[in-house]
Amino acid sequence: ARKAAQAAPITEGALADGTPVPLLANLGSPDNAAEAVQLGAEGVGLFRTEFLFLSSETAPSVAEQRESYTTLLQAFPGKKVVVRALDAGADKPLPFLNDAEEENPALGLRGLRALLANEEILRDQLSALAEAQEATEADLWVMAPMVSTVEEAEIFSRFARQHGLKTAGVMVEVPSSALLAEQILQISDFASIGTNDLTQYTMAADRLLGSVSGLQDPWHPAVLRLVREVGAAGAATGKPVGVCGEAAADPLLAVVLVGLGVSTLSMAPAALADVRAELLRHTKEQAEAIAAAALTAPDAAGAREAARTAAASHS
Ligand code: PEP
Ligand code: MG
Repeated sequence: ARKAAQAAPITEGALADGTPVPLLANLGSPDNAAEAVQLGAEGVGLFRTEFLFLSSETAPSVAEQRESYTTLLQAFPGKKVVVRALDAGADKPLPFLNDAEEENPALGLRGLRALLANEEILRDQLSALAEAQEATEADLWVMAPMVSTVEEAEIFSRFARQHGLKTAGVMVEVPSSALLAEQILQISDFASIGTNDLTQYTMAADRLLGSVSGLQDPWHPAVLRLVREVGAAGAATGKPVGVCGEAAADPLLAVVLVGLGVSTLSMAPAALADVRAELLRHTKEQAEAIAAAALTAPDAAGAREAARTAAASHS
């Protein structure tokens, strides 16, 4: 019996009515790829490239980067792999990128803003990614961190195209890009909501500061309303909308996100099994009802409670 259980294939992510919800992995290094595959990741929804840069005084070469990206892509033949361009600044400072002293680094030159101020770093990274793609069979998507305007989305797509990368999208991590999601999705191929930063910026609460950690809760209806904006923009434009923040790893919140129009979920591989099991307990219509209940609550605790009650009413 033990052997049979081990051999049982892990099913693809889906709701109770069969609606597919691809479940992807968040990875911080190619070293974790094998584990993610074993746990049933259907691809990678967020590959954080900071690891390549954080340990060094200078930017890694195109060749070094290509090797790392190739190793990653080779682990997912035929699968979607979303690689995020370097997200430096704020909680991830880099000596060669964030040299200026900023009083409010979370509101400063970070993410795509820092890359556009250091274009050669972005160009090298996109070149390395294009070379890795040439050598492998994964379906490579690239995305920009901390996009706050339609113009930035447009500039990033142009850079990606110039490097021969065919699928380029943005992370929605600040309220402005959530509110402009429809215009952004007319340009970008996809959006991926980073709920960690989206919560930080919506609630104006530093994600690393213990004294305001009570506000860093993605269940907050203010955050959920922004997710709903992005989900609706995805439906209006026919473009995919994912979530790759920690919120996707909370099983009931994952159901709420799908009910708000999110079509894929990406999370730490260890969370895949529980999220997969919870999605199977609800139909699309039920997920929408659970999300609607959460949206009407006045605060995060209330949203959690309302979602629990709504979920229990049909199980
Ligand atoms: C996020 O902000 O939700 C996200 C996924 O990016 P990071 O946690 O790397 O800032
Ligand atoms: Mg982020």
